[in-house]
Amino acid sequence: MNAQPGTTQGRAVVLGGSIAGLFAARVLSESYAEVLVVDRDRLTGVKEPRRGVPQGRHVHGLLSRGQQILEGLFPGLTDELAEDGAARGDVGHDVRWYMNGERLRPNRSGLVALTSRRPFLERHVRERVLALPAVTFLEECDILRLQASPDRGRVTGVWVLRQAPGSTEELLEADLIVDTTGRGSRTPAWLEELGYPRVEEAKHRIGLGYTTRHYRIGPDFYGDDMAVNYVASPSLPRGLIVSKVDGDRSVVTAYGILGDQPPTDHEGFLAFVESLDVPGVHAALLAAEPLDELVAYRFPANLRRHYERLPRFPEGLLVMGDAVCSFNPSYAQGMTVSALSALALRDHLTESGGLPDPLGYFKRLAADAIDGPWAMSIGGDLAFPGVEGERTPEILAGHAHLARVQAAAVHDEEVSEALTRVIGLVDGPDALLAPALMAALDRHDGRAGR
Ligand SMILES: Cc1cc2nc3c(=O)[nH]c(=O)nc-3n(C[C@H](O)[C@H](O)[C@H](O)COP(=O)(O)OP(=O)(O)OC[C@H]3O[C@@H](n4cnc5c(N)ncnc54)[C@H](O)[C@@H]3O)c2cc1C
Repeated sequence: MNAQPGTTQGRAVVLGGSIAGLFAARVLSESYAEVLVVDRDRLTGVKEPRRGVPQGRHVHGLLSRGQQILEGLFPGLTDELAEDGAARGDVGHDVRWYMNGERLRPNRSGLVALTSRRPFLERHVRERVLALPAVTFLEECDILRLQASPDRGRVTGVWVLRQAPGSTEELLEADLIVDTTGRGSRTPAWLEELGYPRVEEAKHRIGLGYTTRHYRIGPDFYGDDMAVNYVASPSLPRGLIVSKVDGDRSVVTAYGILGDQPPTDHEGFLAFVESLDVPGVHAALLAAEPLDELVAYRFPANLRRHYERLPRFPEGLLVMGDAVCSFNPSYAQGMTVSALSALALRDHLTESGGLPDPLGYFKRLAADAIDGPWAMSIGGDLAFPGVEGERTPEILAGHAHLARVQAAAVHDEEVSEALTRVIGLVDGPDALLAPALMAALDRHDGRAGR
């Protein structure tokens, strides 16, 4: 049943039908005749947050690189989302960015900002994936465990249990299984049960707390803009995002680190927002109509599973998305890393002639999709004094340089645009060291009298 290069044989089973699972299914549909996506939740037609994705109630920004990949995988999706109610604009110009308490200079980045509620985005992607002839969904079905070959060298299927009353366990045979069940993925335990070494996990504690509510906010607040992103900084380690979503609604997410959870009562939440002193926001929320209850989410730590470091791994199994790496959500990297991972999967399937080599895939995944965003996320967190972790000279130099870039970006459009591109994962951080950028920083230092 093995899939052959350029042919459409075999069956791939994707465990989990959230963002990473949908991206995986899209790419696998190019190489496999049949792609089956299994999830415990009902998926088709679902418009609201679902149990399997509790983070779906909170703000979900799509970084520019993610938007570009999404449009590449699903041509026309950007227009479709905007026509159905997502707000669209220029990330550098139409989003009010604040860093270290100061507003960055708006810039015409040419990069598309697209804001919507997370379930809205997921639904649109899901509908595109469902329309692919090779793809079918098995919904309301619990994933139980893997089935391996007698020598345990290959994963040959997965045992599942439909939630319909009277169902019994069934084996779904597969040429390839891709685990995208999120941070709670059981692959580490399954591997051990099959006699493989435990995957090395890196955890960096951040103690992040999110609190979110949707509002109807008067149109005057936004003017021509679509969102406000007040980024937490070492001098004030609290952040706030206010964003137009799905027509006339706004999502408001406030966050704090190291246990500084924004309150879930109306007065407490507004007091937290007021403490940030973001122009116009507190007043706008006082006058706004709340559309739902305040909801909290706790994100204890960044988590990375280093599958690429394992000496052995069974054939027929890959892992993708939050199941490999879950990042401090305030940097909004998760969905974009899933999109980058889909491209890594596609490249691996091409280079392996349609016969995936898991360790080769994991090495590519680390290099092409995860190493860069992970370094940015961990490096960013270590700028906060209370966050534990080793601050190497390289990391400290990075902090000093970034502070200089951010200060210049308040006044200088060229610097602000470069920063917008790096935050959006369109350019790597090295772009902030380019000669023209360094010259702009020197000019700014001179103007600032430093
Ligand atoms: C509070 C918060 C805010 C975030 N904000 C952003 C943001 O602004 N921008 C961004 O890009 N990313 C953000 N993220 C990250 C983003 O949510 C994830 O990266 C993204 O959803 C991809 O995750 P995934 O598909 O790998 O897993 P998940 O989204 O966790 O989905 C896992 C899926 O697997 C299914 N599943 C799990 N176990 C089983 C089982 N045993 N049987 C059957 N089904 C199962 C679940 O039902 C679910 O559908 C945020 C995360 C959090 C926690």
